[in-house]
Amino acid sequence: MYRADTIVACATPPGRGGVAVVRCSGPESRAIAADTFRAAGGGDLEPRMMTLGIVRSARDGSPVDQALAVFFPGPNSYTGEDVLEFHTHGSPAVVEQVIAAAIAAGARAAERGEFTRRAVLNGKLDLVQAEAVLDLVDARLPAGAQAAWRHLQGALSVELSGIRASLVGLLAGLEADVDFTDDDLPEPDDEQRIAVLGDVRGRIDALCSGYAAARRQREGVRVAFVGRPNAGKSSLVNRLLGSERMIVSPEAGTTRDVVEESVDLEGAGIVLVDTAGVRRDTGLAEGIAVERARAAFDEADLRVLVLDASRPLVAEDWELRGQMSADNGLVVLNKCDLGVAVAETERERLASAGMPVLVASAATGEGCAELGLTLGALAQRECEVPPASISRLRHRSALEAARGMLQQAEELLRRRGPAELVVLEVRAAIDALAAITHPLGDEEVLDRIFAEFCLGK
Ligand code: GDP
Repeated sequence: MYRADTIVACATPPGRGGVAVVRCSGPESRAIAADTFRAAGGGDLEPRMMTLGIVRSARDGSPVDQALAVFFPGPNSYTGEDVLEFHTHGSPAVVEQVIAAAIAAGARAAERGEFTRRAVLNGKLDLVQAEAVLDLVDARLPAGAQAAWRHLQGALSVELSGIRASLVGLLAGLEADVDFTDDDLPEPDDEQRIAVLGDVRGRIDALCSGYAAARRQREGVRVAFVGRPNAGKSSLVNRLLGSERMIVSPEAGTTRDVVEESVDLEGAGIVLVDTAGVRRDTGLAEGIAVERARAAFDEADLRVLVLDASRPLVAEDWELRGQMSADNGLVVLNKCDLGVAVAETERERLASAGMPVLVASAATGEGCAELGLTLGALAQRECEVPPASISRLRHRSALEAARGMLQQAEELLRRRGPAELVVLEVRAAIDALAAITHPLGDEEVLDRIFAEFCLGK
């Protein structure tokens, strides 16, 4: 629920730093400034101008810090309300006292994402843009930050409103048909309406097509290392991580479960998934681990088949190779420091259909840099998102629902079904699309989204 009170929080991360920003938003912001801040030159804060002065303690009026204060009168502010910011020295002790001073002057501590939530409720951002703010703050890599920035600029919102405009135009014609069934209107052109619906469905499909790539960009590209026990999967993963986080052991079957680590390679975020070796004759516990490895293999975006090059290949190696393709995997002939026992003809067979085959040694590091480069390049390709694309399951569910309704409307038109039913389907589709950017009545959706935010955003 939207309460028109004044909230306060620290907008910068907790801990020590050069500067901390404490932000207030709400009707009391101006009064809080008057109560807690004395400008060096006297007088009130000028809108949007930084002013040097002293923040005073709520308890006894003693100086807490020398700070810069800036006042943004609503509606020209981030939240659309009056906003006050103190730029203090970045000390947790100072921040605590500045927040206490603001609370004593009438503010209350903000909840997670409450500033951005107010921006949405005041029409400064739509929900897709608010999610983009979250993605931008969370982005670890430049590509993710760029995609979030495009969303914040409104690429998705603009495309959604274009789709909505087409449907609203269509709906107006359909409703006119329902209202005026007599001969005072020309014959409805159902063919043209079907064409509009087809066009809209195509645009919805285009938005959905980037979903998987956007998810990978946000969460990292999942790369599963598969192969028989002891081939050197954990050792290679450790090489890529540059540390000894995986357990490496000469005893076959040590990686009992699936282990994940995140790493950035060539500007792509990657989740390295180290699996238990795929081996048939295992005990029960290991059998479960092998099953999980199987699932990790199936769910991965990319697969790295690790083979022990110093020993002859066996049927299981070929079986795994048979389940991979060049567009989502590569083969590493590991342990090349021990000599390569894999014949040239076998290497050609491994490399068939364009499959990259790298020769490496996790022990000496040979070929590991190339492995990192190749994986990074493949991962980048997995993250290519068209400019207007959805990024969340919430968006996809709404688009799929709208798409289903529009298909239904199209079929009704083809069958010359009742116009009232076509109207209902198109109207429901418009509502489903509107809920992506403006689910304003739905507190639950808002609560869920803003719970992911940090305090002060
Ligand atoms: P995994 O079961 O496939 O994860 O294999 P590990 O990474 O645990 O390695 C199994 C054994 O092979 C360990 O003793 C490693 O030290 C060894 N090993 C891994 N890679 C190489 C390599 O490139 N050369 C040599 N000589 N030994 C390796």
